[in-house]
Amino acid sequence: MDVTVTSLLCVMVLYICDTSATPAQLNSWIHNRLPRGYSDDRIIRSDMTATDQIIEANEFRTAQIPEVTSFRDGDIAVTTGGHSKVCFARSCQWSKSVDGHVYVAYRLSSDYSSLDQRIIKTGMDQIESGTCVRFVPRTHERDYLDIQPQSGCWSYLGQRGGRQTLSLQSPDCMWSGVATHEFMHALGFVHEQSRVDRDQYVTVIWDNILKGHAKSFEKFKTNNLDTPYDYESIMHFGMYAYSEEGDPTIIPKRNKIVKVGQRTSLSALDKMKINKLYNCEISEDY
Ligand SMILES: [Zn+2]
Repeated sequence: MDVTVTSLLCVMVLYICDTSATPAQLNSWIHNRLPRGYSDDRIIRSDMTATDQIIEANEFRTAQIPEVTSFRDGDIAVTTGGHSKVCFARSCQWSKSVDGHVYVAYRLSSDYSSLDQRIIKTGMDQIESGTCVRFVPRTHERDYLDIQPQSGCWSYLGQRGGRQTLSLQSPDCMWSGVATHEFMHALGFVHEQSRVDRDQYVTVIWDNILKGHAKSFEKFKTNNLDTPYDYESIMHFGMYAYSEEGDPTIIPKRNKIVKVGQRTSLSALDKMKINKLYNCEISEDY
């Protein structure tokens, strides 16, 4: 068995959802809430990637989360508790049904509004489209995602066995791309710029990173499934992630004008990675 962390890459899909706030309201809200480095003259909401939104939401995460020991890369929950399963190779995958689909059971907290539920389900739809993954409301399944509006946007990496929390705080995490990003973590994928080969494709500007956050830019020992590096992955940090003063923290090496990260949808490569990791047949049925 390949003893590499099977976490993969990603990009985020963000819908700015059906929020009714005006651009002026949003800009004011952003300006008042963003940490250093997210000043609105550098990042305007329409340019924010899903990871920007997650970093912002988690920067203001105030509540202690009893079940989580720490967070890796800002939104991957780590625990030293009884359930700590190390996510090696394919050991943290969701099981595949005989019909060829990978069914991921979930429970959605009753605290969510109908709009919140629509946004979260749009995030699920984006993963289901073009892949063999199917999210199904839990009935009796032992292993399932317990989706709750806890503090911040975060998930465990891969399937842990039994109930596992996936937090999407409302309203901060209510972008469908943010939901999609966290579901990708739960499927076993890490951030794209964490790939073991990322230094061939991007330059991390360590001096520009907000103090105390350099660890969020470490590499994982990933199994890249023979897929190319994907600047457009829903799992890629934006260029200004954790910026100290608003200067870039990640710059693409090969194509200086390529957009890094995204907010609206899984990339074609993200879908390919899901299908490769789970050995899914590519068929018209998807
Ligand atoms: Zn993430």
